[in-house]
Amino acid sequence: MIFDVLTLFPESIDKFLSESIIGRAREKGLITVNCYNIRDFSLDKHKKVDDYPYGGGSGMVMMAQPIYDAWLHVTKKLSYRPKTIYMSPQGKLLDQNMALRIKQEGHIIILCGHYEGVDERVIEEIVDEEISIGDYVLTGGELPAMVLIDCVGRLVEGVLPSQEAYTCESHFNGLLEYPQYTRPYEFLNKKVPDILLSGHHSNIEKWRFEKMIENTKKNRPDLYLKYIESKKSGD
Ligand code: SAM
Repeated sequence: MIFDVLTLFPESIDKFLSESIIGRAREKGLITVNCYNIRDFSLDKHKKVDDYPYGGGSGMVMMAQPIYDAWLHVTKKLSYRPKTIYMSPQGKLLDQNMALRIKQEGHIIILCGHYEGVDERVIEEIVDEEISIGDYVLTGGELPAMVLIDCVGRLVEGVLPSQEAYTCESHFNGLLEYPQYTRPYEFLNKKVPDILLSGHHSNIEKWRFEKMIENTKKNRPDLYLKYIESKKSGD
């Protein structure tokens, strides 16, 4: 899976995504993350990338030209046009199904905005989809891009030890995961539930499913209702 990221802060993205599971996946060549500094494509002699908004108002807006030229630099060497995603608080909310769909793309370009955002004309020209990571506003698209790359990247074959590592997790089937325990058996007078030591696999599965229902009902009643509705309609 290839992620080409257009950003003003390539080092912060590259550094974060060089660690742990995603870092190892990059080393193994399962995931490629190329970061392009939008500033390198500015035609301004001071490498300016932002300007005041037409019509007034606070803050600065990222100019279309450096973004467009960075995007052309990435796309012109390809025989196909990868989907271009703009990380934006105005986009559709990222969820697990969206991550699975994006993984199928195989190659995406991610645009990270900054300041007050991006000149609308370049969005119209290059962006296929806008994705938000939540109903709040951050200072830039770098954290959202890293969130997207992490959650899509871990779905790529070979990145996690097995498919089960994510198909049994929260959000995969509409429910939240069951509680997990590891050694020691007893910690601060709290013991691991006996069922998990019983070796009786079908009972363990039953217990885990009950806990998934319990957790979802308690922590995310909205998801629980959706789950019940989907069961009624036979999904
Ligand atoms: N003025 C914009 C608005 O009100 O919609 C917000 C701009 S925000 C301060 C700067 C950049 O951060 C955006 O261009 C976007 O790339 C990124 N960003 C901020 N919040 C985000 C979110 N919730 N999800 C994805 N990207 C976000």
